[in-house]
Amino acid sequence: MKTIIKKVDPGSPDAEVIEEAGRILRSGGLVAFPTETVYGLGGDALNPESSRKIYAAKGRPSDNPLIVHIADLKDLERIAEEVPGNAKLLMNEYWPGPVTMIFQKTEEVPTETTGGLPTVAVRFPSHPTARALIRAAGGFVAAPSANASGRPSPTSARHVKQDLDGRIEMIIDGGSSAIGLESTIVDFTEEIPVILRPGFINYEMLSEVLGEVKVDPGILSEDQNVRPKAPGMRYRHYAPKAPLIVVEGERGPVTEMIRTLVGKAAAQGKRTAVLCSDETAAFYENAANSSVMVSPVGSLEKEESIAKHLFGQLRIFDENNIDIIYSEAFETPRLGQAIMNRLLKAAGHTVVRAEGPFAREERYE
Ligand code: AMP
Ligand code: MG
Repeated sequence: MKTIIKKVDPGSPDAEVIEEAGRILRSGGLVAFPTETVYGLGGDALNPESSRKIYAAKGRPSDNPLIVHIADLKDLERIAEEVPGNAKLLMNEYWPGPVTMIFQKTEEVPTETTGGLPTVAVRFPSHPTARALIRAAGGFVAAPSANASGRPSPTSARHVKQDLDGRIEMIIDGGSSAIGLESTIVDFTEEIPVILRPGFINYEMLSEVLGEVKVDPGILSEDQNVRPKAPGMRYRHYAPKAPLIVVEGERGPVTEMIRTLVGKAAAQGKRTAVLCSDETAAFYENAANSSVMVSPVGSLEKEESIAKHLFGQLRIFDENNIDIIYSEAFETPRLGQAIMNRLLKAAGHTVVRAEGPFAREERYE
């Protein structure tokens, strides 16, 4: 299959492109499109055959449900039963926007779309191109992130092409994603709403609207026996090809420890990279020799920049055939939980704490 790529002005997409993409979706094909979070891989959410194609194109396990995207609030009742009052409060505040809500599904939603679950995840994106496309497709677009399963989520059309070229009918190129991390997921099928995946809409913002909110223990625990409720959170995800080691602690010991580890890896002839903040990049410039790739991902003073560039940076390490990556931890105040959730999954939870003498250092060389 030849994948057509169409560039649009993301704020005001060409009507002809949207029409063509809508036709593809209505006839059961797949179209990748920009949203404010990451690029989505869209198919008709009410067509089981389209959902099967999404799983096949991504190489995604079929028990990992898709998010259904809508572009009109009144369409919610066709796919969701029992929308509680507090979910409506959250919609008033943050829809359209980067938050996904889980409800009991109606008969209309095929279980192929929900990974066999009796519940459905729904999002109403704010991105003008996404909204136009959803309308053109008939109102219900199932769209997981448009990456090959296990790879970092795509934040540009180029990333989508890297993973899905020749596997889908069309990619709509609307430039780079504004947020760069997938939506926050909140489960409204429990008495008290539960955060299943942290995102740009953070715990504080949710509590302010909802009062009591829980966090799924599965996303906080490193214990393999504590299973996250969102099936997608159980899989190894976001991972670059090279091993990634996160070093946490105070800035001084962290930079010192990464310098030491980088020096050793480089001395062994490994192509080594450091993922760091704009503020700390200079500490690593002369850490070993010129083969070290120092990669500032964004500013600690502007944490959205870290979120926006994280996935793209992980892909750059692959493109440069890096052998080993050492990363700082980005425990920033508002987005730290969402950023660290992705980074720790990319690292397979390999974390070293830098404090005093580097007792655990040897294990991670
Ligand atoms: P992606 O859009 O690629 O981030 O994948 C969608 C995410 O939403 C996955 O992590 C799924 O596990 C999660 N999800 C979708 N539907 C449900 C559901 N009904 N219950 C729990 N999690 C869900
Ligand atoms: Mg995904």
